Amino acid sequence: MIPIAKPLIGEAEVEAVSSVLRSGMIAQGPKVAEFEEAFAKYTGVEHAIAVNSGTAALHVSLLANGIGQGDEVITSSFSFIATGNSILATGARPVFADIRPDTFNIDPDSILEKITPKTRAIMPVHLYGQPADMQAIGEIAEDHNLAVIEDACQAHGASFNGKRVGSFGTGSFSFYPTKNMTTSEGGMITTDDAQVAEKARMIRAHGSKQRYMHEIPGCNYRMTDIAAAIGLVQLDRIDEFNSARQKNASVLTDGLRDLDYITTPVVREGCEHVYHQYTVRTENRDTLADYLKDNGVGCGIYYPIPIHQQPLYKELGYTDNLPETEKAADEVLSLPVHPAVEEKDIEHIITTIRNRE
Ligand SMILES: *Cc1c(COP(=O)(O)O)cnc(C)c1O
Repeated sequence: MIPIAKPLIGEAEVEAVSSVLRSGMIAQGPKVAEFEEAFAKYTGVEHAIAVNSGTAALHVSLLANGIGQGDEVITSSFSFIATGNSILATGARPVFADIRPDTFNIDPDSILEKITPKTRAIMPVHLYGQPADMQAIGEIAEDHNLAVIEDACQAHGASFNGKRVGSFGTGSFSFYPTKNMTTSEGGMITTDDAQVAEKARMIRAHGSKQRYMHEIPGCNYRMTDIAAAIGLVQLDRIDEFNSARQKNASVLTDGLRDLDYITTPVVREGCEHVYHQYTVRTENRDTLADYLKDNGVGCGIYYPIPIHQQPLYKELGYTDNLPETEKAADEVLSLPVHPAVEEKDIEHIITTIRNRE
């Protein structure tokens, strides 16, 4: 079976972890600081704050922007549950805008329809590795005085008009093993705003700047030096990983684009897509998925149930009607595109799909 995801952990990562273990400094220490500096530079921002998951990064980003009880945050329902749940965790209310059918990213026109006097922030998700429309979102945020918090958990290294995601507002990244780069579990907050950065650092460690002096509420969201050591090696390899994803995606698209029952990914002008997922649209999605699995092709559905239709959100009273989101949830299918997928695997995926006709 060609797996849908596979982290690439090499000898360099093993060595880096061993050396941290031997040092005895195994919680947050110098490796975390080094990783933060390198990741800030890579993303093109002044500050990066490492935490222990992407969910923690989203939660801290929201809190550091002052989001809480009584506020509304407009985001996409077509995402991993953490997008909505991190907003709930602050006490604020997630408000779901619909998506664009071509890119699966939040639709700026739908954002405008959802703005109320309680709206405080927009949280676009750069889904599958393709940047959301940061031009339109930036303009809406400016007109309505809203914070922008980017869920960049799937988009390390992606760019919009030449600027890396995570540098438009407060960025939130995940380093879970299936993402474009990993630290095992881990996350990162990125920002140019010194105040947001300082608050994020405090929230990460129980609201303290100085040990045993606690000024604001916080959690223990610290990253370990063990994780940061893996991250430093992976960051050196991220461009190579992303290029391999882009090459695999381009061969898949060349092999599938003429099939009339499959819509291959659309890359919007000015966007660099880093293909966290290679996602097609097809009407008989479930039969195609079963056929592919029977023929050795691991595939995935991201996401079969939009956030607003999850049991928790129904319980909370969400009754939204988001037609493009709901249609996408029925039609998307992701094919293996990660750097461990070899040329012969890509050929196998294409011929398997083509032979079905
Ligand atoms: C993975 C992911 C998260 C959460 O990251 P974790 O590290 O698993 O907590 C949030 N949002 C999106 C879009 C993701 O893909």
